[in-house]
Amino acid sequence: MKLEPIDMAALLDIHDILMTWNTDESSVLQKLCDKLLASLHAPLIWGGLINQDHKLTVFGAAGNEADRIKGLVLDCSDTLANHPAIKDCIDTLTPASLPGGLIELNSRLFENLSPDVRTLQTDLYPLTLENRCMGVLAVATGNRQNSKHHSLLQLAAQHAGFALGMLRNFVAKEHAQSSLKLAAAVFDHSLEGIFITDTTGSILAANDAASRITGYKQEELIGQNPRIFKSGRHGQDFYQALWHSVHRHKQWEGEIWNKRKNGEIFPEWLSISAILDEHTQLQNYICIFIDISKQKEAEARLNYLAYHDKLTGLPNRDLFHDRLNASILRAKRNQTDIAVLFIDIDHFKYINDTFGHAKGDLLLQKVANKLKSCLRENDTLARMGGDEFTVILEDFAFQTDVEITAGRILKAFSQPVYLDNSELYVSVSIGISFFPEDANNPSMLMKHADTAMYSAKNNGRKCLHFFHSTMENYSIQRIEMERQLRHALD
Ligand code: GH3
Ligand code: MG
Repeated sequence: MKLEPIDMAALLDIHDILMTWNTDESSVLQKLCDKLLASLHAPLIWGGLINQDHKLTVFGAAGNEADRIKGLVLDCSDTLANHPAIKDCIDTLTPASLPGGLIELNSRLFENLSPDVRTLQTDLYPLTLENRCMGVLAVATGNRQNSKHHSLLQLAAQHAGFALGMLRNFVAKEHAQSSLKLAAAVFDHSLEGIFITDTTGSILAANDAASRITGYKQEELIGQNPRIFKSGRHGQDFYQALWHSVHRHKQWEGEIWNKRKNGEIFPEWLSISAILDEHTQLQNYICIFIDISKQKEAEARLNYLAYHDKLTGLPNRDLFHDRLNASILRAKRNQTDIAVLFIDIDHFKYINDTFGHAKGDLLLQKVANKLKSCLRENDTLARMGGDEFTVILEDFAFQTDVEITAGRILKAFSQPVYLDNSELYVSVSIGISFFPEDANNPSMLMKHADTAMYSAKNNGRKCLHFFHSTMENYSIQRIEMERQLRHALD
């Protein structure tokens, strides 16, 4: 078989084809094969690319049985590399020849090709890029070509390698650009506020959410240092610990109170990351934050509900206990006294029975307000449940001051309470115990105040009684008598 000579004009043609726009690598190889076939009239020309797994895939083929060879995948680290000529072609980037044809490769892959094609001498030219073999161009000639022919084909393969390299470069850039576009879209549309700062903390970029949350326009934020958001709620040590973590672990995450442009202080969840360049040098800081004021409000609301009485809004039993504990610790430290008042409405059941439960509720609210009006802002008033209220009094000089406050309560109830249009006279009975005189823990203090309150009830109600140790015996006797009476009834 005699090949047509490939000349410079054909090579220039190939150059044009390769350098015009190619959408993918297989189209480069297919065009190369088609063009070479048209110039050479060789029986079969094909080209393949080697991937990272050392597999050579035939992407372009022209000539006899081109369809059968296109798409074949050859394992370079096995089939091809075992053949010294091919190994040379890949490793040393020199053309190689298989005088016996593809049959030399002993691969079952070529079994589908007709023996005529399989046994044609095939010359292989490396497709090179930056001194690496990225694939091969195979020309089945069936005879030896002259050296001019050979070097022109080698040149064509080099051109193809270059065109493929350009295409790969372009695709990589496109990919990088679309990644950048995606990152920009994420930045712009994120619901989380994002700042990117330089190494000094000066803001280089801020997204819409950052400006919505902080109240500053984007252009006002650029060049600013995030310290403009300082709320004054955190001490120097808080910021020191934060930056220590950023420097040491390249990250900090936590809750922080910041200030909006309008001066409003709000809680945010903030994460700061230190971004390093390829030499592990600090390049930027990225701050991502969300406004958590809504969550904080919900949390505070739940907390409020857990520690307050729904009907009166007063602290409930649990909160009262906590406060009493805290008061005792304070009083121990300052060596001061505390008074606990146990207040119970007299004959409250009559109100419920006469006016109904709803009116009873209304009365409980009125009583709570009346009690509040007799106390100072920082005295704790709580509702224990039912018609029982408790008070902690601190900062008094003498026990008589407590008596004056309790007397003020009794006096306040000498005035009527209005339930809708009805005028009602209600009274309360008050029991009082003192820390440390009567007890030194919350439950005993309350128990003794309760005992004193019972004593006041027994004394005709509408009065106050101080706890006295003899009452304890009385209280025990009362419980014992009640027990015996029940047995007697049985
Ligand atoms: P005493 O003078 O001995 O205190 O008699 P009292 O009728 O006030 O009786 P007591 O304090 O033992 O009972 C309080 C009543 O309060 C019992 C219950 O029916 C009623 N009560 C408890 N919780 C509520 C409430 O949330 N709303 C209303 N309306 N009534 C309540
Ligand atoms: Mg009562």
